[in-house]
Amino acid sequence: IIQPRNAGWIEVICGPMFSGKTEELIRRMKRSQFARQSLQIFKPQIDDRYATDAIVSHSMQQLPSFPVASVAQMRDELDPYVEVIGIDEVQFFDEDVIEFCNEMADMQRRVVVAGLDQDYLGNPFGPIPRLLAVAEYVTKLHAICVKCGDPAHRSFRLEGDPQQVLVGSDERYEARCRSCFALGF
Ligand code: ADP
Ligand code: ZN
Repeated sequence: IIQPRNAGWIEVICGPMFSGKTEELIRRMKRSQFARQSLQIFKPQIDDRYATDAIVSHSMQQLPSFPVASVAQMRDELDPYVEVIGIDEVQFFDEDVIEFCNEMADMQRRVVVAGLDQDYLGNPFGPIPRLLAVAEYVTKLHAICVKCGDPAHRSFRLEGDPQQVLVGSDERYEARCRSCFALGF
């Protein structure tokens, strides 16, 4: 990424579960720490796997974060001097998050968001489609299909459950490619 010098911008990191979205967000945030930029990381309170005050990858890397229940709370907790904003599991926020990200970028800030692009049915997840549309930079990551070893772009839910939001139960999902996802079992 050649970084703009005269404005902020939005980066989206998306993909299925286990694709390394959180790892990539942590990598980018650590680099901005090395550059001595002030940063703040938010995550939805709903995501309580491993820790509440940190973003944690499946490979157990972590960074401190602010758990927030809403975009309004994110605004409340916002450090007025922050230069870089990271948001993990951004798919769980409502559409207000799009306006928030745009506003932050308009205020010269770098905004890096990570989240699932599809739910377990393969449908676009929450605010992600619009975020992808308005972002300057988009990174789509793939996991490895646990069935066949191909690149996986979907998250397969192992047991039937009508709820779209099912958190803290990663063992109930697996990364799958298009054809193994279509198996349905
Ligand atoms: P995400 O945030 O996209 O769910 P994480 O960054 O938390 O992903 O975790 C990525 C890590 O998950 C990988 O580096 C690897 O260690 C682990 N992993 C477990 N299962 C898989 C899989 N099927 N494909 C790829 N990585 C996997
Ligand atoms: Zn497969």
